Amino acid sequence: MYLMNTYKRLPVSFVRGEGVYLFDEKGKKYLDMVAGIAVNALGYNHPKLVETLCEQSKKLMHVSNLFENPWQEEVAKLLVEHFHDKDGKVFFCNSGAEANEAAIKLTRKYFKSVGEKQRYRIITFYKGFHGRTYGSMSATAQEKIHLGFEPLLDGFDYATLNDFESVLKQLNKNTAGIMLEVIQGEGGINEAQVEFLHKVYELCKKEGLLLIVDEVQTGIGRTGSFYAHQHFGIKPDIVTLAKGLGGGFPIGAVVATDEVSKAFAPGSHGSTFGGNPLACACAKVVIEEVKKLLPQIIEVGTYFKKRLKELGKVKGIGLMLGLDIGKDCQEVVLKALDKGLIINCTAQSVIRLVPPLIIQKEHVDECVSILKKIVNW
Ligand code: PLP
Repeated sequence: MYLMNTYKRLPVSFVRGEGVYLFDEKGKKYLDMVAGIAVNALGYNHPKLVETLCEQSKKLMHVSNLFENPWQEEVAKLLVEHFHDKDGKVFFCNSGAEANEAAIKLTRKYFKSVGEKQRYRIITFYKGFHGRTYGSMSATAQEKIHLGFEPLLDGFDYATLNDFESVLKQLNKNTAGIMLEVIQGEGGINEAQVEFLHKVYELCKKEGLLLIVDEVQTGIGRTGSFYAHQHFGIKPDIVTLAKGLGGGFPIGAVVATDEVSKAFAPGSHGSTFGGNPLACACAKVVIEEVKKLLPQIIEVGTYFKKRLKELGKVKGIGLMLGLDIGKDCQEVVLKALDKGLIINCTAQSVIRLVPPLIIQKEHVDECVSILKKIVNW
């Protein structure tokens, strides 16, 4: 009654969660294959995460970025340890859109700082999704996201994923960088091809462009490697993170090479809440736990993909999977909910499965058996 009409909500209200299950007001149990859209990486009521959250909130929840913040240092170290540039640097914020906003600003600032003022444009991709703020929305090459909000922020040129010629067509003397998701999440779990990414990577090196990989959805173990771009053998200059990083507590981050990071100086960019002690304490637990889960994510993800193939065309890597049913899947989502299974429909016909990273094969079997009852392929 008092909320703005920005979401089409499903008719259920959850009151608690345990492991990979959610429970509604009536006590009905649901197997959750969405995890708050790739957020609840450690599932619900994870003992270490909950304990850390409680303990840290008793000590200190927030301290301004005017002061030293050892919690940020610890999480930044963990993020850089997995990054190709071991001297890389991190900026903390609160969401995916904010992380991308910071990445866009960093890209422009970098070229100003090296005296190439004409370079400010970024090539992004159709069906990609980078967020809802003006910068991240303008970077999002989807008309339906822009509709009614024009004029957009200038500086984005759109190309088609896996079509290298379309990238070359957008390249000009003003191009500063190329920004992409290695698996487009909101756009329907569309994987970038290895050869395509290599060409893009080589182009960036040749032309001196920055490669920005939006890992807001794919990052922090979702695909079975710490960063999803590691599957493809490319070395981005900037990586953006959010969603799973806090395991349900809001936090976003930008990881960049040492060289690029130097473009930011005190006063260049900031965020009041970004990387506060509570958020960083949660992120630290998530990262430590996810690191241990990586082999399991690959194993269960591979099994999940194999089982889903019994139902149709499957896309994705690790625990970021899409089942294309070739028709609108909203009705399937409702039927699944009725049977105690939470799934999500994206790009109209793709059932998106981004479960908590702790899921086991038995949960995969439970999910597939419910899906089989719903849809008669
Ligand atoms: N980038 C990607 C790849 C995403 O999937 C999303 C959200 O779905 C965002 C950015 C925006 O993140 P947020 O909703 O936290 O602003």
